[in-house]
Amino acid sequence: MTFITRFAPSPTGPLHLGHAYSALLAHDMAQARGGTFLLRIEDIDQSRCRTEWEARILDDLAWLGLNWPTPIMRQSDRLPEYRDALLTLWQRGLLYPCSCTRRDIAASASAPQEGAPLTGPDGIVYPGTCRPPLGSHPLGTSPEDIALRLDMRAASQTLGNTPLTFNETGAGPDEEAGIITTSWGHVIQRIGDIVLARPAMGTSYHLSVVLDDAAQDITMVTRGADLFEATAIHVILQRLLNLPTPNYHHHRLIRDDAGKRLAKRDDARAIAKYRADGATPADVRRLVGLP
Ligand code: GLU
Repeated sequence: MTFITRFAPSPTGPLHLGHAYSALLAHDMAQARGGTFLLRIEDIDQSRCRTEWEARILDDLAWLGLNWPTPIMRQSDRLPEYRDALLTLWQRGLLYPCSCTRRDIAASASAPQEGAPLTGPDGIVYPGTCRPPLGSHPLGTSPEDIALRLDMRAASQTLGNTPLTFNETGAGPDEEAGIITTSWGHVIQRIGDIVLARPAMGTSYHLSVVLDDAAQDITMVTRGADLFEATAIHVILQRLLNLPTPNYHHHRLIRDDAGKRLAKRDDARAIAKYRADGATPADVRRLVGLP
């Protein structure tokens, strides 16, 4: 079987040790299996992405000894594909417009009778304020420039008993591995109606990543364990859009000395800093625990 994996950075800051680990691991796995390592630039959030960051990330990856086929897929080139998928979901009555602000959501999710707000992979589980009753979704053309949410209750009706499973070859944050199954009860209670299109973006991380992994024929998604919980969302979208579910390899996160996961702002762990200090690519591999 062909093996195709990818590294999908967002050019919102420097490549740091955590990204380097993810990219090296994916590249090593592709090499060990005679497969392909692809790069994809996740630049849908144009307010935060910069072409200078993209150039520096590519330069650091090449310095680390990685290579990849060109042209590179760029999410900002794929807005029509995202729009088409949204339209398909909209026409099937699976999406609804939502005008709630973060503050509205926090306020209604923590209403006294509700107890502490539940949080899922996308933050506070949406309390459903804008959700239309089942079967009464607006149809026609989907509106632009307003958030569109996926109605998980409608999705569960559409998909019926389709099992929500994927194969984990790495490990989730609690060492979950092997065939991972998520119940619809969990999806509805603990994940909720996630946003599939953000205003001024026309898509979301979840929608784009699913469509792009399918378009690039990815057979193994390699990424940090922080995204493990989001995988159930990706499986649902794959089922709804008739796309294959790849294998997943979630890996441990590289942490700073205080045990916190590295952030884009953590310039001290930027690969550029190690390069400037005279480190070699082999030193970086050692630092992240790779042979
Ligand atoms: N663009 C995401 C990030 O930089 C990676 C998403 C993924 O690998 O699915 O964290």
